[in-house]
Amino acid sequence: MDLFEHQAKELFAEYGVPVPTGKVAHTPEEARAIAADLFAAGSRKVVVKAQVKTGGRGKAGGVKLADTADEAQSLAEQILGMDIKGHTVHKVLVEAGSAIAEEYYFSFLLDRANRTFLSICSAEGGMDIEEVAATDPAAVAKVLIAPIAGVDRAKAREIAQAGNLPEKALDGAAELIERLWAVFTDEDATLVEVNPLILTADGEVWALDGKVTLDENAAFRQPEHADLADEKTTDPLEARAKDKDLNYVKLDGSVGIIGNGAGLVMSTLDVVAYAGERHGGQKPANFLDIGGGASAEVMANGLEIVLSDPSVKSVFVNVFGGITACDAVANGIVSAYRLLADRGETVDRPLVVRLDGNNAELGRQILDDASLPGVRRVDTMDEAAEKAAELAAAGA
Ligand code: GDP
Ligand code: MN
Repeated sequence: MDLFEHQAKELFAEYGVPVPTGKVAHTPEEARAIAADLFAAGSRKVVVKAQVKTGGRGKAGGVKLADTADEAQSLAEQILGMDIKGHTVHKVLVEAGSAIAEEYYFSFLLDRANRTFLSICSAEGGMDIEEVAATDPAAVAKVLIAPIAGVDRAKAREIAQAGNLPEKALDGAAELIERLWAVFTDEDATLVEVNPLILTADGEVWALDGKVTLDENAAFRQPEHADLADEKTTDPLEARAKDKDLNYVKLDGSVGIIGNGAGLVMSTLDVVAYAGERHGGQKPANFLDIGGGASAEVMANGLEIVLSDPSVKSVFVNVFGGITACDAVANGIVSAYRLLADRGETVDRPLVVRLDGNNAELGRQILDDASLPGVRRVDTMDEAAEKAAELAAAGA
């Protein structure tokens, strides 16, 4: 789960990381009131910042400085409702302006390739770090972190030094980096990024921006993270699927997908997208892994979620029988139809079922005997994908 900048900064503040004073506004009037308070408290400038979960807001005109509360209000009016890389701005952060002497880059992230944590630090911050890394890789330090040893003040200083931060910024940066490590580990984050990390005119080091990704797999031990979820940007179907403990991700195609095993479902998406090219560009409508032990109830819940998506014109159920054999899955599909009928739902779109693996013959027999309306059995993955794409095109 990605956090908004203001949420990241609230988290930073809890850990003693210096961030500018500020508040979130949903209307230009609110922005004006917050700005007026900041000016009254002694700010010489205030910043109005678009809150969207994407970078490059500055370049897109979503970060503006104001000299008066009136100006902050009119800037908020411009920025609210703005579209930044497909994200609509629903709120702005109104903050005390900072006197920036220098801008640096810093991040902690999970480095899957090296199976450890990584910190990235550079004195060339503020702008696109990817660009700096491409044109001047020596300017971007990558320091691996041993997970058990973690980051103490000395290690933090070593990282800042590797990033070529000037002597005058080292103490402040080391303290801040050590605190960001606490944010990273205690909050179960997979990314904590600060760009820019600034040196102020007074020689202090502050976090002027914040990007945090929290690991949703740690939700069970981070109950307070639930409050950080953004209802507006969570897809309603994904939210319903989550309530039912289903591994569902909404995509934008027309072929509903249900499979057992994440790997199989991933390859099903590819095969359907490929077959779809021959049928007017049909694409998978979702990712749904119903897992190994697919009971009738799980199958019914899966079908219900997939069919709730109005863009779904056909459904491809792709099952490879393993520990849960194909006959159990076939019985699951048959009972799922009954369960759905009991719930007053009907399967009104065609279903293509491919069963292979353990007890495939028996499973196919069960499906054939049941002769469920709209169900077609196709025995190879490629042919089934082709059929599902063809049916989706016909139903569109
Ligand atoms: P991003 O473009 O989405 O990464 O948004 P940032 O929060 O990083 O802001 C972009 C740029 O705006 C920063 O690199 C700063 O140069 C500038 N900026 C942000 N806040 C302030 C501020 O308080 N004072 C000044 N002078 N510039 C700021
Ligand atoms: Mn930034």
